Amino acid sequence: MVLQRYFRGDRCTFVRPMRVVRDDQDGLLLWLTAGSEFAALVDADGRTSHDLPLDELNEPRLTRQRWRDYDVLEWMPAGAAYSIWWMFADAFAGWYVNLESPYERHPEGVDSVDLVLDIRVEPGRAWNWKDEDEFAARTGRPGYFDAVEAEAIRAEGNRLAKLVEGGEFPFDGTHTDFRPDPGWGPLTLPTGWDREHRGQSAGPRRGE
Ligand code: MG
Repeated sequence: MVLQRYFRGDRCTFVRPMRVVRDDQDGLLLWLTAGSEFAALVDADGRTSHDLPLDELNEPRLTRQRWRDYDVLEWMPAGAAYSIWWMFADAFAGWYVNLESPYERHPEGVDSVDLVLDIRVEPGRAWNWKDEDEFAARTGRPGYFDAVEAEAIRAEGNRLAKLVEGGEFPFDGTHTDFRPDPGWGPLTLPTGWDREHRGQSAGPRRGE
């Protein structure tokens, strides 16, 4: 099991436990069973980082939740600015392209920075951008990305969308028939999941 974390600046915004299917020169292949725990920032008014930029949230805290609806096979290619998620319900339900900074390893798992813009791809390879409005609103905000960096993020998305349209790897049928080991039940967040700041040591949360 590894702890997959997303950061914005020194602030952890999202964390979930993932099963390691493979860890080699191609990167990490991870599995998430629906019903597993994860945690994401929710503020005192119930808003999340989808609703407002991080600096406008009112005392956001990492809040435990349960992953719903889909099992996920996630490939994080080493050095790449994206991850590919194969979504499974009763059968393969499509891909999700999460644009993100290349992951960095830490003792319990991997850290990256979510780049807000995503792509949803149906099993028939029709695709659309997700969170374009949020991406536009975050561009130029403190702690996010400037217009030039936003261009590069979108360009990487466009490059991947071309692979989708061409039915090229990794959208060529690879892993769409993946079946998990029947023993891979939902995971719970392990001790130490709740470090909200980069470099914070394990132990009680601040203020507790
Ligand atoms: Mg994303």
